[in-house]
Amino acid sequence: MREIRQSRKLKDVRYDVRGPILVEAERLESLGHRILRLNIGNPAPFGFEAPSSIVADIVHHLPEAQGYSDSRGIFSARTAVAQYYQSHGLVDCHVDDVFIGNGVSELISLVLQAFIDDGNEILVPAPDYPLWTGAVSLSGGTPVHYLCDEEQGWAPDLADIESKITENTHALVIINPNNPTGAVYDEATVRALVDIARRHDLVVFSDEIYEKILFDGAVHHHAATFAGDDVLCLTFSGLSKAYRVCGYRAGWVMVSGPKHLARDFLEGLTLVSNMRMCSNVPAQHAIQTALGGYQSIEEFIGPGGRFYEQSMLAHRLLNEIPGVSSVRPSGALYVFPRLDPEVYPITDDQAFVIDLLRSQHILVTHGTGFNWPEPDHFRLVTLPDVELLEEAIGRIAEFLEQVRSE
Ligand code: PLP
Repeated sequence: MREIRQSRKLKDVRYDVRGPILVEAERLESLGHRILRLNIGNPAPFGFEAPSSIVADIVHHLPEAQGYSDSRGIFSARTAVAQYYQSHGLVDCHVDDVFIGNGVSELISLVLQAFIDDGNEILVPAPDYPLWTGAVSLSGGTPVHYLCDEEQGWAPDLADIESKITENTHALVIINPNNPTGAVYDEATVRALVDIARRHDLVVFSDEIYEKILFDGAVHHHAATFAGDDVLCLTFSGLSKAYRVCGYRAGWVMVSGPKHLARDFLEGLTLVSNMRMCSNVPAQHAIQTALGGYQSIEEFIGPGGRFYEQSMLAHRLLNEIPGVSSVRPSGALYVFPRLDPEVYPITDDQAFVIDLLRSQHILVTHGTGFNWPEPDHFRLVTLPDVELLEEAIGRIAEFLEQVRSE
């Protein structure tokens, strides 16, 4: 038989958080080494548990969740999502504006498949959560990266966005709170981003999966609030992070704005949703419970809470290492430190991460894996408890000391 090759559609598609670095980690594990995996924002392995009402709800509904559901999702979940946004001031948001998916990941892919024509340019932040870039490419589009400015707390560079808009630009992706930087955008920034979309007739795709993981009084602003009725906005969120159930695969996308102008696109989105039948039905049942009930996140994000304390500790300890600086995260589950190129003249940051992995058995993700243009950052997941985090950063510091002395 002839050699079977992967599709040419994958030519520009990368997803490095589970790429060659993970293959190497698995190889080391197969040799008996214990690897501390700090490459993925998955709370469960670090001792975080889902609210018990969510687990109970899924168990309760299992017997009646055996069949396919409506491909857009079960009515109670979609109603709960619509009511959630209504309670946040988005009054023109209804059950039919909501699609439930197997996590935000699946919905990003479905939406982009339904939206993008070959060659369409989509503005994506750099750094980004790399599924966005990969899914734009896989859908036939061209990701165009706009810079976020580390010196401004990783706020999006509005002038850079404007300079990259062409007549072929169709949408603007916002990730807020941001993965990998931990930035949470203030109201003026979110308004300004939406205004750019308004002026240039762009659709806004707003990934808000970390909307509840906020530190030090940071406030999250839904882009849809400022998009009003004249900018089409698709808001993505789900249960994976704030409710700590990545494995259940439950997310949603909510469509707001001039929906009457998007009928054809929404028909296309319904078509691609229909083609995959529906998302995991037991997990859909948890959405109403999660959004409707009292599920305190405060115990995690306030002082003394694990998400908060671990993020602050990681930021502080990393900044104590010579030549390392990181912006204090305002939300999410990551720090994205910079390695001063004068101190660490790295040319291939994936190779650097693999060297760290082999030497210290700690797996982080290189910055270029998030489409950051320079090989001078890495992302650390802040989910381990403080003891483990101290140990991990201590080992990273040891490795960096070796690099400095080479
Ligand atoms: N969007 C961002 C910004 C993420 O960081 C992640 C996961 O890490 C996702 C989407 C995907 O989440 P889900 O588990 O809902 O597919």
